Amino acid sequence: TKMLYNDRIVERESLINIEDRGYQFGDGIYEVIGVYDGEPLMLDEHMERLERSAREVRLNLPSAISDLKNKLVDLVAANGLGEGIIYMQVSRGAAPRWHEFPNHDVSPVTVAYTRAEERMTDVENEGAFAILAEDIRWLRCDIKTLNLLPNVLAKQMAVENNAIEAILHRNGTVTEASASNVFIVKGGQLYTHPSNNFILNGITRKKVFQLCDALNLKINEVTYSTDELLDADEVFITATKLDVVPILKIDDHVIGLGKPGKITRRILQEFRSLYLDK
Ligand code: PMP
Repeated sequence: TKMLYNDRIVERESLINIEDRGYQFGDGIYEVIGVYDGEPLMLDEHMERLERSAREVRLNLPSAISDLKNKLVDLVAANGLGEGIIYMQVSRGAAPRWHEFPNHDVSPVTVAYTRAEERMTDVENEGAFAILAEDIRWLRCDIKTLNLLPNVLAKQMAVENNAIEAILHRNGTVTEASASNVFIVKGGQLYTHPSNNFILNGITRKKVFQLCDALNLKINEVTYSTDELLDADEVFITATKLDVVPILKIDDHVIGLGKPGKITRRILQEFRSLYLDK
């Protein structure tokens, strides 16, 4: 397959410089974009978030966002990708290892590749389990940076407990999950953590806001506790390619009736119409 390396689409191979700052410091940003039937979903929104992440870590993107977008579309076509994802990252570049930013003549390094992946239809239909874990991340979780070690450790704990996700909390306040956002349903309304520095403002999350608006479902963007989470009628998570996944059990607590809830299923159905029948 092919990959994007800076501004060129080339055969995929390892071009990693051992002094790339992404590799050594996690000094860079990334995006994962879902591809459905050969079409990247919500590409503009992902590129806007990339621009924001770049700004927040003071990284100058080496090319215009519109060029980058076109390159990603070209990459999908070059690889003949139908279902899957695009992974792309921009690191602050390769330079002798010092913590401070390198000289201005060092350019950021952009790479992107695609990966074929089946749709997650079964887990979306049937639901999955989650665990609770402490949120030990830094205080700028709104930036999509390469530093994912706390997320990796939380996800590993989930997988070792036959769960799809670790739902994170700070002192009993639910933030998000290790690689997804969390919504709860109580009394016919939805609740989700505000989009501030404690969570990544997911592109799927934003889409759910739009869908709920059209469905006349109220979303309260407020914090809620782990007790409220466990006591919810429905819980679901959202992320690129996972879309909307009902959570049926968290640790040993069954959520609601222990099966995908009505409101969750309604939102999932709307979400699917974004890419089905196109
Ligand atoms: N939160 C975290 C910590 C994530 O890593 C992700 C992405 N997998 C999300 C939320 C969901 O974001 P999106 O819907 O843009 O994929």
